[in-house]
Amino acid sequence: MILKIRKYGDKVLRNKSTAVEKIDDEILKILDDMVDTMKDAQGVGLAAPQVGVNKTMFVVEVGDGKIRKVINPEFIEYSAEIVENEEGCLSIPGIYKKVCRPAVVKLKYLNEKGETVVEEATELLSRAFQHEYDHLQGELFVDKISPMAKRMINKKLQMLKKETLKENK
Ligand code: ZN
Repeated sequence: MILKIRKYGDKVLRNKSTAVEKIDDEILKILDDMVDTMKDAQGVGLAAPQVGVNKTMFVVEVGDGKIRKVINPEFIEYSAEIVENEEGCLSIPGIYKKVCRPAVVKLKYLNEKGETVVEEATELLSRAFQHEYDHLQGELFVDKISPMAKRMINKKLQMLKKETLKENK
């Protein structure tokens, strides 16, 4: 089932999500729906707050043939090396900006079977993990861009926010 993607300005994107206590049918259904929604929107990742659920989980599909369902993630290592690359977000359509992030991360999480997974990620997967993890803290990639880049998109963001608030009324 395809869910509605919440857009910039929606308060649910700014909440800090809480841990998944039990991986039950309801959680599994939301994760399945999140995968459907991500594919439909042609995204590489989607976090639960983006579909209005403030639980610490996200899905990622970076084109390596694997769909990852990530529950209660926690970074256990970051590389000192920082890389800059362009990012976008399904909740902030039409805006792409460069964000600096650690090049390599090690993420510990539960998969949908409740098994603990520790995964070292580089390149797009590393970036997707970090971007989606930020959503669980109520953070968006536009919070992390340079002040100059922020000024350039400020008008667009304000328009998007206005639209969202109107739609949510
Ligand atoms: Zn996003």
